[in-house]
Amino acid sequence: MSIYTIKEVSERLVKASRELYEQGLVRGTSGNMSAKIPGTDTFLIKPSGARMGFLKPEELVLVDLQGNKVRGELNVSLETPMHAVVYRARSDVQAVVHTHAPMATSFGIAKTDILPLQVEMFMLLPNGVPVVPFEQPGSETLAEAVQKKIADYDAVILENHGVVTVGPTIEVACNLNEMVEEAAKIQLAAMTLSGRDALDLAKLKEKFKT
Ligand code: 13P
Ligand code: ZN
Repeated sequence: MSIYTIKEVSERLVKASRELYEQGLVRGTSGNMSAKIPGTDTFLIKPSGARMGFLKPEELVLVDLQGNKVRGELNVSLETPMHAVVYRARSDVQAVVHTHAPMATSFGIAKTDILPLQVEMFMLLPNGVPVVPFEQPGSETLAEAVQKKIADYDAVILENHGVVTVGPTIEVACNLNEMVEEAAKIQLAAMTLSGRDALDLAKLKEKFKT
């Protein structure tokens, strides 16, 4: 495994973490993210309790696809089982981003799926963003619940908790997390203006089909 690659992935992860923090998608020690080291069965993840806005590349922890620590001084993120299960289930996924984005999290509290009401969102996530039923943070049962949904969706909401997005790169997974938060804001405004009439996915599919 190339040390150079680990260094490169670490730097990209730290930069992306800081951007998520600056956008307000994570606050304090909330959230975590990880990225695969290309050509290996390992990934780098945030240490538990670290603040995503202030990470240092050397603090990231290297783990295998079972979630066991391979290298690093600090404890692995609480959500390592969830990240590991996603990489085992989806060989196309190279990065996993978990935030507590406030508006999308509120949809999870209201048990309301986010729908792709806006055309660009529709192109990214044509089936919307479903809510995964509540499980304790860090638990194997949460990892299993996410695994079931992530086979069919690149973004899910964790009930009363937050958002998980995945992608073929760190940047794509982060972009999706931002888009989910934006879609939640749009949906709240659309529902305020036009009630549930705005929320007909079949009609949207017809409208956006070209
Ligand atoms: P960690 O600091 O252990 O990654 O936990 C943050 C979190 O969001 C748990 O769901
Ligand atoms: Zn969390």
